[in-house]
Amino acid sequence: MSQKFDVVVIGAGPGGYVAAIKAAQLGLKTACIEKYQDKEGKLALGGTCLNVGCIPSKALLDSSWKFYEAKNGFSIHGISTSEVSMDVPAMVGRKANIVKGLTGGVASLFKANGVTTLQGHGKLLAGKKVELTAADGTVEIIEADHVILASGSRPIDIPPAPVDQKVIVDSTGALEFQQVPQRLGVIGAGVIGLELGSVWARLGAQVTVLEALDKFIPAADEAVSKEALKTFTKQGLDIKLGARVTGSKVNGEEVVVSYTDAAGEQSITFDRLIVAVGRRPVTTDLLASDSGVDLDERGFIYVDDYCTTSVPGVYAIGDVVRGLMLAHKASEEGIMVVERIKGHKAQMNYNLIPSVIYTHPEIAWVGKTEQTLKTEGVEVNVGTFPFAASGRAMAANDTGGFVKIIADAKTDRVLGVHVIGPSAAELVQQGAIAMEFGSSAEDIGMMVFSHPTLSEALHEAALAVNGGAIHIQNRKKR
Ligand code: FAD
Ligand code: AMP
Repeated sequence: MSQKFDVVVIGAGPGGYVAAIKAAQLGLKTACIEKYQDKEGKLALGGTCLNVGCIPSKALLDSSWKFYEAKNGFSIHGISTSEVSMDVPAMVGRKANIVKGLTGGVASLFKANGVTTLQGHGKLLAGKKVELTAADGTVEIIEADHVILASGSRPIDIPPAPVDQKVIVDSTGALEFQQVPQRLGVIGAGVIGLELGSVWARLGAQVTVLEALDKFIPAADEAVSKEALKTFTKQGLDIKLGARVTGSKVNGEEVVVSYTDAAGEQSITFDRLIVAVGRRPVTTDLLASDSGVDLDERGFIYVDDYCTTSVPGVYAIGDVVRGLMLAHKASEEGIMVVERIKGHKAQMNYNLIPSVIYTHPEIAWVGKTEQTLKTEGVEVNVGTFPFAASGRAMAANDTGGFVKIIADAKTDRVLGVHVIGPSAAELVQQGAIAMEFGSSAEDIGMMVFSHPTLSEALHEAALAVNGGAIHIQNRKKR
């Protein structure tokens, strides 16, 4: 007799594993299917995020920043060191240990919550049945009242730069370099390209980023993207905008990349090339032809605002559906779906999903940009506060960037919080909480903020919206 569950989740990334844990917590008999194996051939839960995404990239960003600071940022504090050296395999090894700890942690959480882990490839059949194929080819049919598809995404390949994971790598390969490439090319100035480019630039690589668009970080507020371009360029990243890669040729240990820009055909030689041109949904062999689940025109699983697919009782969440490809978006969709399966009223506020780029300075935002609001014809007041005027930032010698708060000119309701600077991701979260509760800039201004903190920059930016900042001259008069 086949196994039967209340909920079967396909994929154990931050969408799927969080959904599975929540379902079990709510008393549903739950299984989660995952096929990903680590380098030792062992099942590894956690998906892209824990294995080859958010966590390993942040581990290398933190390590490389410490190295960079030790080399370039200590002397101002009066600290001198003998020559600072680096052991790349040890750095990459530390990252691997963090990944192991966290993926093992998900396995423990499954156990503790009573989630059944099923190892193998899952495929949705008609009638909410799931075919589970183990690595040895054994096939089992599982029945479910509810199925959650959480198969995630994988890097996009482009014909001009085929990934060989040696000289031309994708984001996964770029987390595994065992030495610092002298000349590193990055195709794509998106979040992943900028983060991975930063890691290796801090460790000494000469990094060139080739970006087809003329605009830098188009999703960010223009003031932020301008500041970011200026700062990253000062840090030594050579960011070429309007540069579309058209071909590449690997010659032994180097690659010649051709691209076109305003001046015509160009070429440039690198020791390693990272292809970071975006990610696409994973739906290969996921849906039987009669499963009834539809894809949209871009190949994502088609869902409504509640992550319901075209088949009742079948849901899809995370990177495999429309919207931002972010771990926290995937997880919250998982929670929403499970709550709704239980009959609870749950919904996502897609307008308040924070975006973060973990460069230094960090970049983060939530809500709308000034440009979008202008296009929509909304009158706004804007308050900004530079970290150069923050005592805490000065104490840390980390004064680049600013906080920008945008509020509705009529109601004073906060419509966007944009930060470039130290701990931007943490600061923006405060803005997200305020916005979720419909705060006005005045509400934030009336809060008591600890002194000295970086958060005071958020406080001051909120005060500046209505001309009331204390520690800078206000652009707007009361
Ligand atoms: P995934 O994490 O991709 O998980 C899907 C899982 O499903 C995989 O484990 C896969 O093996 C499994 N699977 C697929 N098909 C099947 C099948 N048929 N049967 C069984 N198993 C299957 N996001 C952030 O929010 N913050 C960050 O800092 C961040 N940094 C990133 C850095 C990098 C380098 C990359 C590549 C991504 C980063 N992301 C970050 C994005 C984040 O990793 C994804 O948004 C997130 O992992 C999506 O979660 P998911 O559960 O939808 O899918
Ligand atoms: P993201 O989707 O945010 O990860 O960003 C990927 C970036 O890669 C986008 O800004 C694209 O414009 C860029 N890109 C895609 N194809 C090319 C190409 N052939 N040459 C240069 N940049 C590219």
